[in-house]
Amino acid sequence: MSDLREREARAFFPTYRRLPLEVERAEGVYLYTGDGKRYLDMFGGLAVNALGYGHPAVLKAIDRQMHRYIHLSNFFVQDVQVEIAERLVAASGLDRCFLCNSGTEGMEAALKLARRWGKTTGKSSLVGLTGAFHGRTLGALSVTGREKYREGFEPLLPGTSILGFNDVAALRDGVNDRTLAVVVECLQGEGGVHPVSGPFVAALQELRDRHGFLLIADETQTGIGRTGKMFGYQHFGFMPDIVVAAKAMGGGLPLGAMLGSEKLARAFPPGSHGSTFGGNPVACAAGLAVLGEILDHGVMENAASVGGYLKEQLQKVADEHPRKIREVRGLGLMLGVELTVGGEAVVAGMLERGVVVNLTNLNVLRWLPPLVISRRHADEAVEAFRGALGSNS
Ligand code: PLP
Repeated sequence: MSDLREREARAFFPTYRRLPLEVERAEGVYLYTGDGKRYLDMFGGLAVNALGYGHPAVLKAIDRQMHRYIHLSNFFVQDVQVEIAERLVAASGLDRCFLCNSGTEGMEAALKLARRWGKTTGKSSLVGLTGAFHGRTLGALSVTGREKYREGFEPLLPGTSILGFNDVAALRDGVNDRTLAVVVECLQGEGGVHPVSGPFVAALQELRDRHGFLLIADETQTGIGRTGKMFGYQHFGFMPDIVVAAKAMGGGLPLGAMLGSEKLARAFPPGSHGSTFGGNPVACAAGLAVLGEILDHGVMENAASVGGYLKEQLQKVADEHPRKIREVRGLGLMLGVELTVGGEAVVAGMLERGVVVNLTNLNVLRWLPPLVISRRHADEAVEAFRGALGSNS
């Protein structure tokens, strides 16, 4: 074990299983270790590093804002905050924005907004879905449908139920006039890159119309262009009442947002919610640069087209190895390859071949590269995958 890894093991609560890689610097879509090795990044900071590393637009925006001011306080109106809120509102089709620092904080804001709105309507129960992940704070955890994350932290929020993802009958049975909100990830990330089904979306909309609950879309991972559209729900033809975004938003700096419809605005009067660092101006400046590249300079279109190409190439590998690969799925540059063999050995084999990729749910390789990768990068990664799979018996 290296000296750094030993010190890390002594100094930290052991919450993270770290990769066997000590990155010295990163540039473009590559990570470089101290011993001079180069790794193609299909991990992408788990969907944070949408523009890769050292993108000039992000560096320039951070540098400029840093020299204006790094922090004021949310007692001050700040131009970069207003600009990013306007862009997010316009791109989402919603009306109002609250800025925070992370996905879980965005989910807490969403649940708190729903709660306060529900006070006037007599609605209070929350619904999460199996396989979903919404963050580590106790509210977000209460609607997270995976035992692995909830275990040991109960009791969680009362009045919360977890229904089967894509199970229309369970949804019909599980919601009623007391249901306050249903939280959905259109493409479940941590859960193994599973898309929501058409019939489930149709039932969600029909039941929302009937019972008047709120639909909360967690776009923490799927948002900001990753799937080839700005938000995942834009693939599935429905309009949420609340949207949570984070990860890629701040260009690597902590930034999240909770967006909501006008009817909810009165539920969050002055003093009802807040965050010291939420919407930090340097993070907002970086975020404006990210949104500029994604929405105005073709990066979202690149995610759609290179994502489609990468999926095709992965499908070819799946066709070559029908006994080792169960399915290739996903949208844009959020792809999952479900294996029938142990995922850890494949990840290690890819690392040996100079490519970093994430493993989720034990056997799903999750591909979340920067949205600026080219077809050449996709080919390089697929070759490493093919090699790792071929040597794995
Ligand atoms: N929601 C989803 C869909 C996520 O994928 C994540 C993180 O992976 C979160 C929420 C939590 O985000 P954060 O770690 O920024 O709190």
